[in-house]
Order: sequence, then C-alpha cells, then structure tokens
Amino acid sequence: MLDHGRTARRLESYVQGAWRAGAGAGKPLANAATGQTHAVISSEGLDFAGALEWGRETGGNALRRHTIHERALMLRAIGQKLMGMKDEFHAESLVTGATPKDGWPDIEGGIGTLLTFASKARRELPNTKVLTEGAVEQLSRDGSFVGQHILTPLRGVAVHINAFNFPVWGMLEKIAPALIAGMPCLVKPASQTAYLTELVVRRILEMQILPDGALQLICGGVGDLLDHLTGQDVMTFTGSASTGQKLRSHPAILANSVRFTMEADSLNAAILAPDAGPGTPEFDLFVKEVQREMTSKAGQKCTAIRRILVPARHEQAVIEALSEKLSRTAVGLPDDQAARMGALASTGDRDGVREKIAQIARDAEIVSGDPGQVTLVSGDAAMGAFMNPVLLHCTDPFAATAPHEIEAFGPVATVMGYDGIEDAVALARKGKGSLVSSVFTNDPDIAAELVVGVASFHGRVMLGNRDSAKSSTGHGSPLAPLVHGGPGRAGGGEEMGGMRGVKHFMQRTAIQGTPRLLSAVTGQWVPGAPARSDDHPFRKSLAELRIGDQIITPARTITQEDVEHFAEFTGDTFYAHMDSDAAKANPFFEDRVAHGYLIASFAAGLFVEPNPGPVLANYGVDNLRFLTPVYFGDSLTVQLTCKEMNPRENADYGEVRWDCRVTNQKGEVVAQYDVLTMVARTWPPEA
Ligand code: NDP
Repeated sequence: MLDHGRTARRLESYVQGAWRAGAGAGKPLANAATGQTHAVISSEGLDFAGALEWGRETGGNALRRHTIHERALMLRAIGQKLMGMKDEFHAESLVTGATPKDGWPDIEGGIGTLLTFASKARRELPNTKVLTEGAVEQLSRDGSFVGQHILTPLRGVAVHINAFNFPVWGMLEKIAPALIAGMPCLVKPASQTAYLTELVVRRILEMQILPDGALQLICGGVGDLLDHLTGQDVMTFTGSASTGQKLRSHPAILANSVRFTMEADSLNAAILAPDAGPGTPEFDLFVKEVQREMTSKAGQKCTAIRRILVPARHEQAVIEALSEKLSRTAVGLPDDQAARMGALASTGDRDGVREKIAQIARDAEIVSGDPGQVTLVSGDAAMGAFMNPVLLHCTDPFAATAPHEIEAFGPVATVMGYDGIEDAVALARKGKGSLVSSVFTNDPDIAAELVVGVASFHGRVMLGNRDSAKSSTGHGSPLAPLVHGGPGRAGGGEEMGGMRGVKHFMQRTAIQGTPRLLSAVTGQWVPGAPARSDDHPFRKSLAELRIGDQIITPARTITQEDVEHFAEFTGDTFYAHMDSDAAKANPFFEDRVAHGYLIASFAAGLFVEPNPGPVLANYGVDNLRFLTPVYFGDSLTVQLTCKEMNPRENADYGEVRWDCRVTNQKGEVVAQYDVLTMVARTWPPEA
C-alpha cells in the first residue's frame, strides 16, 4: 500500500553550498493517489539573491575552468550512477500518481537524455572552452581582416522553473545542455511533485562530481529571485501560459533582456489522413496512439494529444474504436498491476480538469467517460485524484473555439471531423502553435502536403505509418537530438535539439580582426595566421604539435598517363577525363581534366609521412571542394596546416583537423578540404 508507515518529509533547498529548510509551517503535499500528506514544502527565509550570486561566482567560475568534454564527462558519470538508483526514484514517483510505466519516460527518459547530451557533446563539439560557429569570413581583399562567430558560456545562472508533470526529466533535460555549456543551474521544481526532484538532486550532489555552485535547488516559492536576474542569466519556464506570461513580463526580465524560454499550454493534434480509413494499419495505429497519449501519465503530458482530427466520413468509426478502448482503461492505484492508468498529480488538478471539460463541452458533447464519476480497480475515489478518460466530439470545429484553446491537462481529448487536407491543416493551425502534432498516413504526397501545411505552427511533427509501427518513439516523446518547444500558444521556446540546445546557454559573438589574433582567440588556425614548418607535423604527437604547424610539399606534375591509369584502375572513365572533344563541349572545361579524387589521392601522397608515427588514422575529410580544373601538365603543390586539435579526456589520442589546400603552378587553389586524423597523445606511446 502506498505511503504505508511513511511520515511527511520536510523538503529542503540546496542553496549557497548547503541544504536549508525553509521557515514556517510549510505547505503540505499530498500523495496523489491516497491523499495522505507525503511531504511539506517551504522556501521561506532563503536568500534568493545570495543563491544567484553563489551560482554565478562559485559555480560559474568552477564550471568555466573545465572544457566542454570535461563537463560532458561529469554528466556521463552522474547519469550512469543515477541509472543504478532508478528503483528508489520509481518508488517515489508512485506518489505523484504515475504508474511504473508512466515513470519510465520521466526517470529513465530523463537520465537517458542526460547521457545522450553527454555523449553527443563529446562527439560533436570540440574539447575546448570556446566554440566557433561557421566559416571564417574574409572581410578584406588582402586577407588581413577576417571575422568569425564564437560562443562562450553566459556568466550568469540558468534558472529552470519546471512543471509538476515531469519532476525528473523536466530537470535533467534542462540542466544537461546548460552545464555542458558551462552555466550553473538553479532548479525550481513545481511544488506538487518537488519531493521526487529533491531526491534526485540529493543523489546527484552526494556524488560530489559537480563543482559546488553548479547545481542549486529551491523547493517552494522563488521569493524575490526574479528581481535579481541580470542580462547574463537565463530563465527557462515550463507550466501554464498565464504564469509564463507573468514571469516573462517581470520588470527585471524586461529591463535586463534576460533570455527567457517558455514552454506552455499546447493543444496538440493527431491527424488521421484521408487515405488511412478503417481497415488500414494506419487507422489502427492512430487509434492506439491516441488512446496511449490520452491515458499515459493520466494525460498530464505537455505533448499529449488533445485534438483528434479525422476525415468526416470516418468520424463515427474513430469515436467507436476509441470509446471502446478508453472505457476499458483500468484506473487505480499506481502500484496496482491491474491499473492501466494512475492518478492525476493532485485533486486540485483533477478538479481543474473537470472545470476545463465543462468549458470545452459548450462546443462539444461528451461521447465517452463521465468526468464526475470514476470507476476504480483499486484506491479510494474520495481521497485520490482519479478520473476516467473523457472523449468529446465537436461537430462544428470551425465555429468552435474551446476545443482549440482550452487545455484540459488530463485524460481528455476532442474528436473533430474535416473534409479535405486544407481543412485538416486549417484545424491544426487553430491550436495557434503547438509542441507536436502527428500525421497518420501511408501516402507520401499527403504526408508532404500535411506536414508542410502545419510545420510553421509546430515544434515537431511525427509521421506514423505501418513501416515505423514497431520502431516509432511515438507522438508524445520529446527526444534529446530533436527540438522540443513550439511557437505561439506553446510558448515560443526551443529546448534540446542536440547541440543547438547547448548554445542556448552561450553568447554568440562576432569576432573581427587579423588572422593571427583571431586564431589566438579561437584556438584554431586561420589562413593568414603564422605557420611553423620545422619538422613534418605528422612526426609530432599531441604533446608536441601546435596549431599552425605546416608542411608545404614539393610539386607534382599531372600527366595524361596518370589520368588514364587512374581511370582504368578505378573504372571512373567519365568523358571529361577521357574524351577531349566531349570535354571541350562541357561549359566548365577547356579540355580533358584530372579526376578530383586523383588530385586528393596525389595530395595524400605528397603530404604523407610513411613511417610509423603518432598519426594513427585518417578518418575522413570535411568540406572537400574542387575549385579549379586541373589539365595535363599542371603542377600541384599541397599546403597542409594543423588547424584544430581535440585531445580526448579519456583516451591516449585525439582528433586533429588539418587545413589542406592544393594549388597549381599559377597559385590557384584547385582543391580545398579539411583532413581529419587521429593522433597519439605522446610518441612513442607511453607503456
Ligand atoms: P504553473 O504555471 O502554476 O506552475 C509552473 C511552475 O511555475 C511551477 O514550478 C510553479 O511553482 C511555478 N510558479 C508558479 N507561479 C510562479 C511565480 N509567480 N513565480 C515563479 N514561479 C512560479 O503550472 P502548473 O505546473 O500548476 O500546471 C498548470 C497548468 O499548466 C496545467 O494544468 C497545464 O495546463 C499547464 N502545463 C503545461 C505544460 C506544458 O509543457 N505545455 C506542462 C505542465 C503544465 P509552484 O508549483 O511552486 O507554484
């Protein structure tokens, strides 16, 4: 039985390097399923300005001393340890009303998101403290003045105000990109489920992996915290649109242009396409997905399906199929294996949902479920925040506003019929901006028309069909590599999206100057910056190699025999290499030309150091361009310069990127690319 033998726990905040209890009696937090008081919360008397200052000074300075990879490795270590503790988190998660299955996206999903960020950061970002973005821009004819964008961590605190429905994922998906960026975090979970967030933060801090000040937690209200925000702080908010708007327009946020990301109410749609009628796999998948999204976490998901858009001729079939499934959904105590759906997070939420259903019902009729009555397989309806799923049907969705505007944050959705694809698109857009919609179709033309029609109103669109039925991650799952957020009503924010999420916590600055100075700022060699040609750079380990180490090779002349040999050897007998008349008829060439890949191969032959040495492997090239045709008799030289070095934290080698330019006898660049190699940390390798 839930809560058996438990006494209410007084939640604490972790600020300024210590766990601190708020003053006063505090606010009791009830177990969602039993109504018993589970915890008490208060942040009264905390020094909120002090917490921000502690984060900026102690946490920010400590984090910025590390490189991006070092910070990502901290998160990896934390994620691995958290995964080993998940049973403890699941036990606490039951108190929120979530079944173990509901707890999975929050707990395993949250830790998985942290681990994905930790791994992607080490694969996709350099092991540096400063990031560069985009190419170096030539700003002067002689190359003495160039420009580039750099990204550095903001010098404030990332304040994350989270919603009650994902106490673990909601925190981890936000702190992961911020910490990798080098910004300390201050997390304020929604009070109702803060006990679970508090538990996870305790476990993270006990690991002593993060530097002090990198992660702080406020359990309870935020007091005067917002008054002390500066232009270097970031605020992310998830919750109701009304609170979000209030916070976004706070005087300090407006006056200091505090970066503010908001994820709020979203009337997400699932669209059954005209080709996906009853009897098709897409119809069955659609019904299953809608039922799943309405009932998982009792519909308390920001991405849950609220609007069910179906071809008018299939309306009845959808209502029947869904009603049948929803009415069979067993509701009960979250730890009861017979229960398919648990409780809402609080009775207050449940009452709010009932109220919203009544408002939607002004434009629609209830066709399945009774908001006022609940049938349970276990639990006490008078004590727990239970309700059965409720399906509504709106017969005039173009005239109606409530089903498109009122988010009943529970197991509630409305079926609406449409007559053609344009109507389906127009109805989806009536949500005025959503986190996600899904389109169920097996027709590529319909998929393209619907997705392009609704895309600008959405942060994510999922296509469902028979081919991905088994592999699809589903309508409701935001994924670490993909953007989560949505325009308009959904808040206008953007979270995650892989490494773009990290950059939300950094400042992009355009740097202009001479190549030598730019190179010193970015840690990358820029053409025009000084170069060093003492020894062959392939003989240098990471310990000896420096940015700007360069080799300029002797010249090699390209002959007709070379080209014909290469053509026969590889089978690439494209006419431009083999047939003079045909080549001359080509607008790009004056005669037969050498193969681009022959040039790249000869370049490798020119710059190679053939003996065993610190260069361990060539793992590819980036941005390969053939810029000038090479004719028989042309003489080619290669300039290869060490452009970027990325020592790995936990390996005895690292990546080295080389700027490679192949020029002809006239000094024209005929090919340009980055050569990517793995280079040993020391040579010979340490035993
Ligand atoms: P709220 O907007 O009331 O709360 C969200 C967060 O903001 C909580 O952490 C809350 O803390 C905090 N908060 C509230 N008031 C202030 C304030 N004045 N200053 C600083 N922080 C504040 O939303 P709920 O979590 O109660 O959810 C209400 C509704 O929001 C749901 O019914 C649903 O419609 C919508 N929602 C939408 C989500 C989405 O992503 N689309 C996700 C979750 C909810 P505290 O709990 O301590 O008050």
